[in-house]
Amino acid sequence: MLFYILAKDNEEFCFSPLPSAGLILGGWTRYLSPGLPLEKLLAITAELPDKKPTVQPVSAQPATPPFSPVLPSAPVINRDFENKLAQKLTKRMKKENMGVREKVWWQNISREALPEAFNIEVLQNETIYQKFLRMAEGRQLAENEFWIVEKELGVSTKELLGFMQKAVQSGNAAWLPIFEQVRSTYFCRRCGSSHYEEWPSLYGDTYTCLDCREIGPLNSLQILFRLHSVDVVGQTQMDTDKCEPDQTVRNYSLEFTFAQEKTAGELWQQVHRQKAKETLLWAACGAGKTEVCFPLIDSFLRQNKKVLFAAPRQDVVHDVQPRLQKNFLEYNIKILSGALPQDMEPSKLTVATTHQVLRFYQAFHLIILDETDAYPYEGSSVLEYGIRQALRPDGQIICLTATPSAKILSRVKSRECTIVRLPARHHGFPVPVPEWQKNRLTGDRSVVKLKKILLELITDGPILVFVPTVALVKEWTGVLKTAFGDLCVEGSWSSDAARRKKTVLFRQGDIDIFVCTSILERGITIKGVQVAVLFADHALYDARALVQMAGRTGRSAECPVGRAVFIYAKQTRAMIEANRWIQDQNRLAEEWGCLNG
Ligand SMILES: [Zn+2]
Repeated sequence: MLFYILAKDNEEFCFSPLPSAGLILGGWTRYLSPGLPLEKLLAITAELPDKKPTVQPVSAQPATPPFSPVLPSAPVINRDFENKLAQKLTKRMKKENMGVREKVWWQNISREALPEAFNIEVLQNETIYQKFLRMAEGRQLAENEFWIVEKELGVSTKELLGFMQKAVQSGNAAWLPIFEQVRSTYFCRRCGSSHYEEWPSLYGDTYTCLDCREIGPLNSLQILFRLHSVDVVGQTQMDTDKCEPDQTVRNYSLEFTFAQEKTAGELWQQVHRQKAKETLLWAACGAGKTEVCFPLIDSFLRQNKKVLFAAPRQDVVHDVQPRLQKNFLEYNIKILSGALPQDMEPSKLTVATTHQVLRFYQAFHLIILDETDAYPYEGSSVLEYGIRQALRPDGQIICLTATPSAKILSRVKSRECTIVRLPARHHGFPVPVPEWQKNRLTGDRSVVKLKKILLELITDGPILVFVPTVALVKEWTGVLKTAFGDLCVEGSWSSDAARRKKTVLFRQGDIDIFVCTSILERGITIKGVQVAVLFADHALYDARALVQMAGRTGRSAECPVGRAVFIYAKQTRAMIEANRWIQDQNRLAEEWGCLNG
């Protein structure tokens, strides 16, 4: 998008994509033509160290409160200054080999001859403007998303740009070039990445960010529009100090176990009393960690604060949203997963994948991040940047996991993050500790040995057989089909087109043995399922993956027990650690007096 330098008669200047909006909204009467990408105009004006635009296009980073736009006193400029700017623009266009051939000159903006035609009445309509503010609050909109807002508001692109300019001039919003240059490196403002592709354009060297393409490609000729969160005043706020978590639990259809109630209380303490910035909720697999956060979510919503429930994977997001909606009937809970068209309607409670979180900026007071240690969030600096960017400067984060990463545990150790445990499953039975079976899985004898153990497991329920690679899924589905001619054996992996269909069949009990990669390692509960991990000593399996796989067993109250068997050739540290984790968790549950199994 092209921007213009606008000047007032009293010799101030600012940037706007629409010169006419500048006149209507702020009395800017002259503009410098031609328009250039904002990034280029900023570079030109940065060469004038004593002159700053009256409306700052670049907002301060999180440390500064969003509502203190720096408004320097109007610099004294004269026509000489205007000439200087025009010369700089000409020079830059030459220096960067731009293909723009337009003459550089200052033009007057007058109401009679507005350079762009749009409906001034629409722009002055306060109702639509307020609706726009509510919609864009806490968001960072890229150019390729503007059309969604236009459609919802029923305005034209130019009218929307007019509203945006109005928000920028009032100090609530900012226009930002996509890339920020720090020394010789460029960083994408949406995802924080410096991973880009360079290409020549009409406006000189241009960059496309390679890390946030998944939610729409961005390049350095484009801009981000950020609208800061606005605190709603005049609403009744609940006094959190007087409200205890059990009071809110009673409002919902939640039946907490003793362990859940204790954990919910501790979380409350950490967030509301200790004001912990970041809290890790370390729960046993199948302990009901999501529900434990409900009283806390409720308390934030009642204070009219915004809450985000984020998870790395789409299926978790689609699974959680109905559970939340059922308990928070008075709120319309928005879902952003990439699987549905983007919804711009404002919401107090949003459920989103960590990729979609990149669309927000300082929007949320509370972020609950589920499956913190799962792919693709774990190890992705972009997704972590997105979560931190979406959090308000005074916001708080709760990370949920059954298998915390070494990184978050070290944050706990250094007290950057507090910890709350939920060691017991809701039915009060311990998490099954994996059994170990030595078997190299080569040759006929090993298959006979494996068949024996699987025959034992199948008497208790269907079997999930985990293998480390896609090639092994294909190989072992074949081997087991031959070995168990009378049983239904199927296999699947992440890119398998029939994956969803097969998973449904397995859930329904139509498949006896299901061979798969880590796709079913998390978030799935199947009544009576038994687990066998083949090649449990494989380098791809760390302790956390092994704990998650074993944790698929005994989750439902009807079948609270089950068996998990690690088939291995050589014992590994990960296997030892996985068993230790599960035993520790069970021991803690016992100490709490929560085990009845
Ligand atoms: Zn990016």
